[in-house]
Amino acid sequence: MEFTNRITRTASAALFEEAKRYFPGGVNSPVRAFKSVSGPPLFIREGSGCRMMDEDGNTFLDFCCSWGPLIHGHNNDRIREFVVETLSKGTSFGTPNRMGNQLGQLILENHSYIEKIRFVSSGTEAVMSAIRLARGVTGKNKVIKFDGCYHGHVDSLLVKAGSGLATFGTSTSAGVPDSFARETLVLPLNDEEALEQTLVEHAHDIACIIVEPVPANNGLLLQNQRFLESLRLKADKHNVLLIFDEVISGFRVSFEGAAGYYGIQPDIMTFGKIIGGGFPVGAYAASAEIMSHVAPEGPVYQAGTLSANPVAMAGGYAALEQCLADGFYEIMANKTKNFVAGIQAHCDKHGYEVSIPHIGSIFWVAFSRKQIRAASEIDVASMDKFKVLHHELLQRGVYLGPSGYEVGFVSAAHNTADLEEASAHICASLDVVFGG
Ligand code: PLP
Repeated sequence: MEFTNRITRTASAALFEEAKRYFPGGVNSPVRAFKSVSGPPLFIREGSGCRMMDEDGNTFLDFCCSWGPLIHGHNNDRIREFVVETLSKGTSFGTPNRMGNQLGQLILENHSYIEKIRFVSSGTEAVMSAIRLARGVTGKNKVIKFDGCYHGHVDSLLVKAGSGLATFGTSTSAGVPDSFARETLVLPLNDEEALEQTLVEHAHDIACIIVEPVPANNGLLLQNQRFLESLRLKADKHNVLLIFDEVISGFRVSFEGAAGYYGIQPDIMTFGKIIGGGFPVGAYAASAEIMSHVAPEGPVYQAGTLSANPVAMAGGYAALEQCLADGFYEIMANKTKNFVAGIQAHCDKHGYEVSIPHIGSIFWVAFSRKQIRAASEIDVASMDKFKVLHHELLQRGVYLGPSGYEVGFVSAAHNTADLEEASAHICASLDVVFGG
């Protein structure tokens, strides 16, 4: 399909050409390259509240929110002021600092599923460290992950299922040795039987089960409460640890993340995104007993030059403090629910094959009427529709992440009028997608 352009991307296109001289594919993280959608990626110049402006001067209502961290929108006053104040005293000392204590205290006093935390600098680092911790605690090696969950670019988690039902993974990236991929077993989501069978066979060498309790990297594959509870029960039964990767869901679906939302106690949790308020922060956390295995208290080594630097800690503190405001998560969930309901009603009226699963302030536009709970249920061909939707939305000033597998995020900065405006544009764009 030929796309017509109503917005100009001249400056973005020129900057992208330049960027290709510096960076592989012109980007510093692959999905930013717009390969699944049309045209050059937008180069964003600035953002304020729920809007951002590109280098051509186009403004967009933003539902990507830097892939999730910006729960308070762009350039939030409180975060900016606290970070600037902290920054004026220096950026990093490589020593313990009061700001780290403050963020640690704020999190632990308001999160009943964890007792101790270790700050790192990204979600990937958090997951990598959590897996090492699980192996260190159990003395076992293998990891169970689920098809459709993403856990960062940790070597042994860049794997997909091989052939067969319960199977060792094969790597999805060059550079991951087969021997690493063989340490991972990949199972379908929402399938208790496959999990039980694998545990019966391999539990003697399985250190942990890792899951995104709200799988939000391959569409939004909302799981049955029962399946999530079975993870806890089966992990206990077979003496393996349960890791909730809450890099997206943490501080997003509730302050206590998916653990709090579903009322399920994991053994280890990982965080990223919101925890840094827009700065590079990740963390892993668990009971005091499990965390006592981490160096220097215990034998599981993990370290970081810029870990818990005061500037990043200040960003996280100012973000999370605002999440603790009375009714914060109810308001976020309600406005997202109403936003989605309006679009769904439009699709229902016109008979469009669309459903919009959502939880808290996360939503996903699925080109299917079926409830999708596993990666294999996504119709790959439907991504052509997303390409048209994305293009139409850009023309109308609405920005979604540039892939149909990505979820959207509503921020506290999106007010009712913003969401009504976005809803009208999304409905009009869906009319184009379906030729209505
Ligand atoms: N885990 C999950 C669930 C994620 O969604 C991501 C990133 O999107 C990661 C881990 C990796 O985080 P980062 O990109 O900060 O390394």
